[in-house]
Amino acid sequence: MKGKYAKIINYLLYPKGYAIAINVFIIALLSFFVYLFVYYTGGTKYVYTHSSYLPVIFASVVFGVKGGFITGIVCGVLLGPLMPLDTKTGEVQETLNWVFRMGVFVIVGVFSGLMANVFRYNTKRIIDYLTHNQETGIPNISALTKNYLIKEALDDENTQLAFSILINKYENIIEVISRDHYNDLIKQIYHNLRSNLPQETQIIQSATDKIWVAIKDPNIEEYINKILTTLNVSYYINNIPLFVTFSIGVCRHQNYYSLIDTFKNADMSARRAQKYNVPYLIFQNEHFESFRNIELLGMFRNALYQEELNLHYQPKICLKTNKPIGIEALLRWNHPKHGEIKPLEIIPLIEETELINTLSYWVLKRSLDTVSNLSKLDIKMKISLNISPKNLMDKNFIDRVIDLVDHYNIDNEYIEFEITESALIENLDLCAKLLKHIKDYRIGLSIDDFGIGYSSLSYLSNLPVDIVKIDSFFINQMTKEKAVRHIVHSTIELVHDLGMKVVAEGVENQEQLEILKGMNCDYVQGYLYAKPMNETDLINWYLEYHKEERI
Ligand code: C2E
Ligand code: CA
Ligand code: CA
Repeated sequence: MKGKYAKIINYLLYPKGYAIAINVFIIALLSFFVYLFVYYTGGTKYVYTHSSYLPVIFASVVFGVKGGFITGIVCGVLLGPLMPLDTKTGEVQETLNWVFRMGVFVIVGVFSGLMANVFRYNTKRIIDYLTHNQETGIPNISALTKNYLIKEALDDENTQLAFSILINKYENIIEVISRDHYNDLIKQIYHNLRSNLPQETQIIQSATDKIWVAIKDPNIEEYINKILTTLNVSYYINNIPLFVTFSIGVCRHQNYYSLIDTFKNADMSARRAQKYNVPYLIFQNEHFESFRNIELLGMFRNALYQEELNLHYQPKICLKTNKPIGIEALLRWNHPKHGEIKPLEIIPLIEETELINTLSYWVLKRSLDTVSNLSKLDIKMKISLNISPKNLMDKNFIDRVIDLVDHYNIDNEYIEFEITESALIENLDLCAKLLKHIKDYRIGLSIDDFGIGYSSLSYLSNLPVDIVKIDSFFINQMTKEKAVRHIVHSTIELVHDLGMKVVAEGVENQEQLEILKGMNCDYVQGYLYAKPMNETDLINWYLEYHKEERI
């Protein structure tokens, strides 16, 4: 129900605040007019007493049974002992006469009040049914239409930022914990958002895996951070911790978009964030976005040949010997005009094109240069390269890798590929076959970002993997949540049982390190030891590290 009529009905059926006072005043005024009307038309002997049904029914509609009852009594009294049978002669009514009339007023008032209550109750139920998700009780997409009958309707005029929050891998979550518990999870997410965001924020569940949030404030960075910290907590279902990740899209609400369109834009960015495995993306403008992507890709092609690209290396430390055993190559792009462009901004785009093979080949070549420079200084460390599954699917890629490694005269065992768990799971059968092929060449394999893929661990045993890298999310949460510690511990044990080794990613402090040592973790990587560095800094770091070690 929209517009004026809905407003009037809302005003009558659900009066609040000053509307209650106005309605009481109208009823009093009507009753008084009826009194005057009956008095000046000659008293109760004429038919005009029936006009009392007006205030009685009005009161019962507005205030229900109580309103009908009270107004019935008031009108009964006004037209009873306070009103003569005949105003001209002043003849008094018989008591039974006015009491009976009052009784009828009361019965009519109570009955129509009852009907109004039933109507009110049913209307509320229908509206609730239409505008709320029946499983979670959270307002749904119908609540978007401005509706005077619901409190939580998203308000067009007051929305400045539209957030679309997707729950990643929600089908897996449902499969693991059941639909009912999944709904409990959504409720927890909703309540966390409710209690951490300003009161006027409007939140709806627009699909099974999607929550929309309308924020009144234009400060985009502040609210992205607020929402990220609100969402990134452990969720407990039946005391079992669940690790839920989200992909968020944000769109500014502009006048030329309808509110729904703004949310659809936010949805688009959220889907993109999900695809590229980044926590959030801000919607720019469809044309601008695709223009920027094409522009970025064009710039990248030039960058490959113009020395704008660089590699940084981050050491991995063996906890048993406390020695660096390997380095991971991480791409750096310093654009002369646009400054540093993050790998996560460009790599997902490149993965959609043939350029990914050119890039991975370039990374390999550059890494092998570094490895041979290091070996000249008698520094022997394994090199890990981040590889996209698209690389594996290109038949020539592996052959070119092997040729190049041969050319540098480096033992294949010094090369390791890192493949993200999520990419692996998407194409498990095919990847398993291709990985076995790589393994034939004695190239090491490690599973990156392990744990956030949210899948069963059984697939691990069928893969020729040497190393599992536990995602930094778990290492970060481990010191805060006992349950996460248990998960990390049992993952390490399971991986060891399968004859593989574990790297903990993103180790930033001593506390995390001590816990990992206690759990028998094999290797660590993170800012605590070293940030990714260029080749020269890496060599200096290595020499310095060894100097300290010897002391
Ligand atoms: P990744 O493979 O998970 O790499 C680890 C990321 O965590 C790196 O981000 C690294 O700089 C960062 N990091 C390392 N230690 C810490 C720590 O203690 N704390 C925190 N907060 N972060 C830490 P970076 O370099 O921005 O790379 C991001 C992602 O981009 C990588 O994630 C990888 O998936 C991808 N990537 C980077 N270089 C390449 C490449 O040459 N090829 C491909 N295909 N992907 C790459
Ligand atoms: Ca990696
Ligand atoms: Ca990683």
